[in-house]
Amino acid sequence: MKIFDRITDIQEYVRQEKLAGKTVGFVPTMGALHEGHLSLVRRSIQDNQLTIVSIFVNPIQFNNPDDLKNYPRTLETDTELLQNEGTDILFIPTVDEIYPEEVTEKYDFGELGLVMEGAFRPGHFNGVAIVVRRLLEIVKPDKAYFGEKDYQQLAIIKVLTEKANMPVKIIQCPISRELDGLARSSRNVRLEQRMREAAPFIYSELLRAQDLAKEFTAEEVESKIQEAFKNHELLKLEYFTIADGETLMPVTGQIKTNDHAFIAVFAGEVRLIDNIRLI
Ligand code: AMP
Repeated sequence: MKIFDRITDIQEYVRQEKLAGKTVGFVPTMGALHEGHLSLVRRSIQDNQLTIVSIFVNPIQFNNPDDLKNYPRTLETDTELLQNEGTDILFIPTVDEIYPEEVTEKYDFGELGLVMEGAFRPGHFNGVAIVVRRLLEIVKPDKAYFGEKDYQQLAIIKVLTEKANMPVKIIQCPISRELDGLARSSRNVRLEQRMREAAPFIYSELLRAQDLAKEFTAEEVESKIQEAFKNHELLKLEYFTIADGETLMPVTGQIKTNDHAFIAVFAGEVRLIDNIRLI
């Protein structure tokens, strides 16, 4: 596995590989890698002749400075995991390399960027869009892989790349879960034991919502799930929303095909998100 930290170096290397006719798959990450990330890497290796993974903890997408400070950083094990998978290139730029100057770009994704994560994490998607665009412009992959775990992010990135006519195919990958149902996340290692034990409740409530969706309206399902969290002694619900799986606009009345439930929960200091397709 080749490791690059300079933009010019990786660009030159990838240019040569493309000239040799290789197709390029790209998996952007913030590191602290787990099976969820690796499932994306495996998919890219399957689909492409060259797989590039980036690890960059993007400071401008953190709306909470403590979250940035406490974000797990495990470069040594990450490198080993990627090597074992057969990753071709690891790109680990510094913050100065990605942001040599003050960042001023502003993206407007309309309502898509204002609901759910957009409402509770102001500026978050602007930071995501800026870094993803820069990384895609550096790497110029044929395909880029993103997880449904961050469903709204995926929707934003699809709009970003379509609007900018970027010649990349965005590949949507399913959520990888622990055996007890908890969606894998780099932040899970920060859960203290009793929170980790409580956290599978999030997925079991999503499954319950899926069941309730057969019988009840969106508002009814929302209030039943919200009620269950009110009675929970450890987990604090931030939002539980049923929204259209394409537009991400809130759903009212009867739940229809491709509506999804989206949830954000605080387990102590750690904020967890998850989602499920209802019908
Ligand atoms: P992150 O390092 O959290 O920025 O995530 C990098 C990529 O991995 C994003 O496209 C995420 O959606 C994806 N990802 C993170 N966790 C999971 C998971 N449990 N299952 C599938 N994809 C995931």
